[in-house]
Amino acid sequence: MPERFTVTTPIYYVNDVPHIGHAYNEVATDVLARWHRQRGDDTWMLTGTDEHGQKIMRTAAANGVSPQEWTDRLVETAWIPQLELLDIANDDFIRTTDERHKVGVRIFLERLKEAGYIYHGEFEGHYCVGCEEYKTPGDLVPGTGEFEGQQVCAIHSRPLETVREANYFFKLSEFGDRLLALYDERPDYVQPEHVRNEVRQFVKQGLTDLSISRNTFDWGIKVPWDETHVVYVWFEALLNYITANGYGVDEERFARRWPATHIVGKDIARFHAVIWPAMQMAAGIEISDHVFGHGWLLVGGEKMSKSKATGIEPKQITEVFGVDAFRYYFMSAIAFGSDGSFSWEDLDARYHSELANGLGNLASRVIAMVHKYCDGVVPDVEIDADIATLVTDAVARAESAIDAFQIHDGVDAAMSIVERLNGYITEQAPWVLAKDVAQRERLAAVLASNVHGIGAAAIMLAPVMPGSAQKLWTAVGGEGEVAAQPIQRAHEWRGTGRVTTVPPLFPRVEQA
Ligand SMILES: [Zn+2]
Repeated sequence: MPERFTVTTPIYYVNDVPHIGHAYNEVATDVLARWHRQRGDDTWMLTGTDEHGQKIMRTAAANGVSPQEWTDRLVETAWIPQLELLDIANDDFIRTTDERHKVGVRIFLERLKEAGYIYHGEFEGHYCVGCEEYKTPGDLVPGTGEFEGQQVCAIHSRPLETVREANYFFKLSEFGDRLLALYDERPDYVQPEHVRNEVRQFVKQGLTDLSISRNTFDWGIKVPWDETHVVYVWFEALLNYITANGYGVDEERFARRWPATHIVGKDIARFHAVIWPAMQMAAGIEISDHVFGHGWLLVGGEKMSKSKATGIEPKQITEVFGVDAFRYYFMSAIAFGSDGSFSWEDLDARYHSELANGLGNLASRVIAMVHKYCDGVVPDVEIDADIATLVTDAVARAESAIDAFQIHDGVDAAMSIVERLNGYITEQAPWVLAKDVAQRERLAAVLASNVHGIGAAAIMLAPVMPGSAQKLWTAVGGEGEVAAQPIQRAHEWRGTGRVTTVPPLFPRVEQA
């Protein structure tokens, strides 16, 4: 039986303009999914869009269209194209306006109500429309400029609206002990460690019940037993992970795909690692496998966001460096789980040293030598033992790195082969060996070792740089799809075929 690997991105708030912060999450999730797929796991990658709530309703009205027309337009013109641009191989795309989602949400709510976890109550709170979330005093910061003297949202820098509502509540407060037990029993449930500690601390302080409906606007999913209320957008959005997978309507499919692993930004880890598991406990469904909260991308020391004018569109980067370099850069340059600073200078430097000079140059030199010295046929000889060991170790290291969500370390393991081979060529100097007839066997072993290492690296880099890895693979005489090669056995591949030619994989970029 193949192992199940269902992995999700958050569903993106459709009103946002996609920036490289979203792209970072999408690419990381895609790399994990592609890696598992290449291992032979029963993999399913889910992404999608979050489309309800007051803010969407207001911007749709401001644009003179219905909320549905507005979200349709954004999905088609912004979010789907972003996935295509980034070469994301998602298996599913869910919109919270999908009928399947609405159906699943209603079933879930009914079950929660039957189980006694929902009640009707009064509530007054301070609501940030930007976050679509009630804030507690600890979440606020002193305002500046026009809001001097007021408390404002730390993310949106705007004052909050005081909202008094009679709403439906979820008894979140009853789940504190069970959540703490979950974090203790399954230390790898919330990762990385600092996010786990933060979440744990938050729960330890005590949880309050969660208002899960609104009756002041109607752009949302109606509460099944009270159509004057719509379900709170965050509560409903979390359910996409199960409504996309057959919850309540297709038990066989649900059993196959659930539980999932959630890859989220650390700022929404609390929703995913506190509210969401409590909802799962209340409804009697299995708890998610993992919640991994990755870091933020910083530009000039600030979190990237459209509202703060630090937003960079992925297209600005892919147009200059190509999509594979985009994917490679963000997966290798930033330790997954930590914040990372983006700069054009760093991207440019790594592109040229690691991809153009490192990988691209190695491949073209080796292939040229196989053509020149061996008529284009990879010598079918024993490869050097130290290269074989190096590659075997790199595969093992990459495999455990991916299991620990250390994507950067997995990429580094693959690139360690490239780095070593560049040194190995210089040491072995095949162009010198070629001049001596007595060294024919030695020359054959050196070239075969190089081809072996490049082929293995191509297999390991396929999840990260799908297009370039395929070109590399074909160039060293690999057959078929590189993504069809079992990644955990990349070290077993031996090139014995005919090399082709390698197109320029990473052409020099003059001006970034
Ligand atoms: Zn806010």
